Amino acid sequence: TEAILKVEKLKKYYPIYGGVLHKTIGYVKAVDGVSFEVNQGETLALVGESGCGKSTTGRSILRLIEPTEGRIIFEGEDLVSLNDEQMRKRRRDLQIIFQDPFASLNPRHTVQRILEEPLIVHGIGDKNERKRKVVELLETVGLNKEQIKRYPHQFSGGQRQRIGIARALSVNPKLIVADEPVSALDVSIQSQVLNLMEDLQEKFGLTYIFISHDLSVVRHIASRVGVMYLGSLVELADKTELYDQPLHPYTQALLSAVPVPDPDFKRERIILSGDVPSPSNPPAGCKFHTRCRYKMDVCTKEVPDLVDVGNGHYIACHLHR
Ligand code: SF4
Ligand code: MG
Repeated sequence: TEAILKVEKLKKYYPIYGGVLHKTIGYVKAVDGVSFEVNQGETLALVGESGCGKSTTGRSILRLIEPTEGRIIFEGEDLVSLNDEQMRKRRRDLQIIFQDPFASLNPRHTVQRILEEPLIVHGIGDKNERKRKVVELLETVGLNKEQIKRYPHQFSGGQRQRIGIARALSVNPKLIVADEPVSALDVSIQSQVLNLMEDLQEKFGLTYIFISHDLSVVRHIASRVGVMYLGSLVELADKTELYDQPLHPYTQALLSAVPVPDPDFKRERIILSGDVPSPSNPPAGCKFHTRCRYKMDVCTKEVPDLVDVGNGHYIACHLHR
């Protein structure tokens, strides 16, 4: 397997202003030095509670948010070094699907116009070719070409997400960041959309970064899973290994709350004490130490590095050095 994307020490800090002079008095460390690789054709899931930095990481990769620091190496090229015009062109290869397709689709535009727009932006085809492409896209995502003149509100939630997927696909991207793509949908519709995404991945050789707080959904679709907490990656492993053998105490707690398919297999439910600390004032050392039942002295002082403990299973915890 070959990495199509390498994220290196990515940081996104938002300044906090205060005082009469409205000066920077601190930073919200939304993403605080995250590194990982994504292999060609895989689905890497980023999971964690809201505010852990997974969406910010996804958007920074596409430079929809400007990273504060770090490198985003896509097919050997550092995207952070590109100017706006170069990045605009490169974005053909990197697309995004949003959680709420209704909010991301212009309500006054027909499906035809919505799907044609990226083609126009990237100078793809003439009017007739674009029309043909839009019809083809609708069929590819399981919609009917008779629906081409309809507006977003005339579709169901699941159909709108299919339109969002078609829009991302329209420019033949290589990598798609899917940010909670099924979280707004009924459970009965979720698996249809996930299955569609899997079919499209196979058909077009797509690579996905799949962002979700829902570990049942991630179990369905991911090849590998990265767990984030307070802007840091705390564990990264193959899906099966992560679900069967979670090593980080935070991952163990997250997974203990997920129903398991095998009714004979009971996992102890781990209740995390306390709230997630503020990302503007994260705990020193291991950021999880305020909630960790294995906390040691060293945990409050030293930041644990993310290290490979074997088979590409990475973990940032002083218990595993
Ligand atoms: Fe818990 Fe320490 Fe590991 Fe952090 S480093 S998860 S506090 S044992
Ligand atoms: Mg989010």
